[in-house]
Amino acid sequence: MSGDEQDVARLAEGPRCECGVFGVFAPGEDVATLTYFGLFALQHRGQESAGISVSDGRRTVVHREMGLVSQVFAPADLAALDGHLAVGHCRYSTTGASSWDNAQPVYRETSGGSRISLGHNGNLVNTAELAAALDVAPGTDSDLMSRLLVERMERDAVTLGDAILRVAPAFRGAFSVVVSDERSLHAFRDPQGVRPLQIGRLAGGGWVVASETSALEIVGAVLVRDVEPGELVTIDADGLRSARFAAAAPRFCLFEWVYLARPDHRQDGASVLAARRRMGHRLAAEAPVAADVVIPVPEAGRDAASGFAEATGIPFADGLVKNRYVGRTFIQPTQSLRQLGIRLKLSPVREVVEGKRLVVVDDSIVRGNTSRQLVAMLRGAGAAEVHLRITSPPITDPCYYGIDMATRAELIGADLDVEQIRAFVDADSLHYLSLDGLIDAVPQPAERLCAACFTGSYPIPVPAEDARAAQAALELGLGDGPRA
Ligand code: SF4
Repeated sequence: MSGDEQDVARLAEGPRCECGVFGVFAPGEDVATLTYFGLFALQHRGQESAGISVSDGRRTVVHREMGLVSQVFAPADLAALDGHLAVGHCRYSTTGASSWDNAQPVYRETSGGSRISLGHNGNLVNTAELAAALDVAPGTDSDLMSRLLVERMERDAVTLGDAILRVAPAFRGAFSVVVSDERSLHAFRDPQGVRPLQIGRLAGGGWVVASETSALEIVGAVLVRDVEPGELVTIDADGLRSARFAAAAPRFCLFEWVYLARPDHRQDGASVLAARRRMGHRLAAEAPVAADVVIPVPEAGRDAASGFAEATGIPFADGLVKNRYVGRTFIQPTQSLRQLGIRLKLSPVREVVEGKRLVVVDDSIVRGNTSRQLVAMLRGAGAAEVHLRITSPPITDPCYYGIDMATRAELIGADLDVEQIRAFVDADSLHYLSLDGLIDAVPQPAERLCAACFTGSYPIPVPAEDARAAQAALELGLGDGPRA
């Protein structure tokens, strides 16, 4: 994606998801097509590239391209992917450039002839340190993980599973990983379990692992359980085995509850949709307002808006229509189209908003530009008043665990107070859900959550700003670090 396209996508969107991973071990089933549908359900987690790797016990074939899942795989591509186990991935780049080279699954061969395919969701915070240990350029964190696994398999003459148990304790950050060789599928998750990863069972006896339960359901798999933080799950012809490479210290991403996960996802057995409804209830209690209609900013604001309407008795209506595909294509918008900004993504429904006092429910404010344009657009469509209600606290700090929000300098919540932000976006009123209110609305206790982008308190230590900048430069090939 070019810089200009990213500008448009970012202008019209909030925080961007990182990646979705999927894996299946199911002899006798069409694993490529199962993976295709699994990735389809995970498309919201990454729209830049998609890939599937399939193994038949001897051969491994990888197909990966830039684009949406539906653009990357034609029926003939899937037919060529024949085997009994697969790894799938859809990507949005949080480190490294958005290019075919960085599309996943990452594929490597060991000197002993093992073929390793790896898909990663999350972001490591110690890639520079890990790369130095290997004496290579950092590259992407996912590529580095695969290098370290292969290097350990060769050096210690061990299986992929044993290599994971020996290497994963050195990874720091967020990682929900699915990785295979020709005969076995492995899934492992960082000790904090920042990103989701679930295990499901197919009716025919096969196993599935996926970032979200929606991807299990779409292929007819039944949720078995979450992969535990710090756990490695191995699936092969002998069934499923569990091992631990680190003690669990859970700090699940609070923002998955607010925005990232699909509403039909169940995390640790609890419904995301129900949590978002409760966010709407809390918001209504914390910041009531006299209004005629509650409208969501699609899609993540929808369930909270219906909760707000439920709690207040104010009618709910769709006052904004979303074009789901703008900003996720690879068509270069012209300058005049870019100036349309949010109009490329959302259109007001005049019949709903004209002459009305609106409560507009959104999940977050990142830079403030989108909210400002949204308010202007609604006023242009005849809204009498626009009251913004946000289902999370102000974002004050960047995420280093796999969500691309913005740099600290770009975050409007880092510098301005709520009244200053209200003035900037030109809303009649603006209220954010308090951190306590948000945590009350989700089913996990505060001590098991990461809330660093709202508090600046990072549960996994991140490098200092100057070290982060140096690391980013190295990853983009701009620095003088070691080279492979
Ligand atoms: S910093 Fe925010 S977005 Fe990142 S993992 Fe923590 S809660 Fe989630």
